[in-house]
Amino acid sequence: MAQHIALVELHLHLEGSIYPSDAIILAKKNKTVFNFEAYHHLGFENFLKHFGFVVSLLKDEEDFALVLYNHLKRMKRWGVVYAEIRISPSVWEHYGLDVEKIARFIFSLNYQNFLKYNFIIEAVRHWDGKLLERDFNLALKYKDKVRAFGIGGNENIAPIKNFKFLFEECKKNGLKFIPHSGENSSAGEVIDAVELGAKRIGHGIKSSESIRAIKKIIEGNVHLEICPTSNYATLAVEKNKIHPLNIFCEEGVSFSISTDDPGLFLTTMKKEMYITKKILKKGDEFIFKIQKEALKSSLLNKKEKDFFYTRFFS
Ligand SMILES: [Zn+2]
Repeated sequence: MAQHIALVELHLHLEGSIYPSDAIILAKKNKTVFNFEAYHHLGFENFLKHFGFVVSLLKDEEDFALVLYNHLKRMKRWGVVYAEIRISPSVWEHYGLDVEKIARFIFSLNYQNFLKYNFIIEAVRHWDGKLLERDFNLALKYKDKVRAFGIGGNENIAPIKNFKFLFEECKKNGLKFIPHSGENSSAGEVIDAVELGAKRIGHGIKSSESIRAIKKIIEGNVHLEICPTSNYATLAVEKNKIHPLNIFCEEGVSFSISTDDPGLFLTTMKKEMYITKKILKKGDEFIFKIQKEALKSSLLNKKEKDFFYTRFFS
């Protein structure tokens, strides 16, 4: 890929950016065991277990700082100029961490000299509603640092229909709501998410199986955050099948390309762009166009978007 294309990363989990090299450092520091098996996924449920494993390596706020610092450095090297970083406080709590202390510390760090970034707080949809409420309140408390609220996890256990109240609460509190939807479930989930008011959806790839869902996405001006390597790793797309990216492209769906959990999937933004070009048989001009689409759908305000547009994409 041409070196000069600035990249915009919209779908990235901080905890999933723990590469084996970070995991080895953390395991050594905290005297725990590093398991390379956690980087080989046998489907979505298995991946969720591995996500838990890398979180279990984090023991204090300094560990989070290390992971954030290392990944920002990597992104800068790949040419990423802006990133939206998801964090999952409920998962931290599950592994005995002090959520409030860690959140406060992460939000106090200023690594914006590497590249500009904003946070999204991500709740686990199939866990206790009390945890979700706590995560939501945390997002409101740090509204200056957290620009959106999201939910991830098992859609088959906890479908988007159950979260109508979240769309309403986010709207009431001026917080964007960006759910994972149609990742490992069905096109119907994406239709429901759009009907409930989603304007940006994490993954949404199952919508490729339904013309009605694609129509809904286009009519609703909805943006999809597509993560090709992640889709293959979690078996959201079967290994021997062509990625449905070409369907979105042909139908004119707005989408961006992201890494999701680059550490756990052993990928990079550059690799995702390469894969995208291969799937779509397109060149660098198309990658450039996707970055502009990502910027447009980002959580930046108009003034910030104008700045990035003029600096990198005009
Ligand atoms: Zn994700």
